[in-house]
Amino acid sequence: MKKVAISACLLGEACRYDGSDNRNDALLEALGEVELIPFCPEDDAFGTPRPTMDLVETPEGIRALSNATGEDLSDPVTAYAKAFFDVHPDIALFVGKDRSPSCGVCSARCYNQQKELLSDKAAGLMAKEALKRGIEVIDAETFLQLKQGEKS
Ligand code: SF4
Repeated sequence: MKKVAISACLLGEACRYDGSDNRNDALLEALGEVELIPFCPEDDAFGTPRPTMDLVETPEGIRALSNATGEDLSDPVTAYAKAFFDVHPDIALFVGKDRSPSCGVCSARCYNQQKELLSDKAAGLMAKEALKRGIEVIDAETFLQLKQGEKS
């Protein structure tokens, strides 16, 4: 069965920064008969609840910085992503939660160091690792729109 890696919050896991979830029943129905493999790099690295973070363009590249402390939180997220894809080398599709600095595929916001918006189409750190490995990736909302478009 096709293996689909998916942001755990979309399945109803209460792993968002504030302890809520993003359960999306329409999305789950649209995914159909696949094996879902959930992931949540931020819960694994920082626990829940936790401060939010944003992608920021720095001289070292695009990094995820804590909105509470300014600390660079990128490395634990990237390490989680690498370990996840190493353990699951046969993922056929990555479905990421839109706008997340970890999971968004082409919907995350990226700022400069003055906190001015540079882009709202950036890839989150986990999505970036999936892209690097040649895995097909898509934002959850885009996936759902495409599936709903196919039906009409
Ligand atoms: S890191 Fe990803 S899976 Fe975890 S709560 Fe945020 S969007 Fe959901």
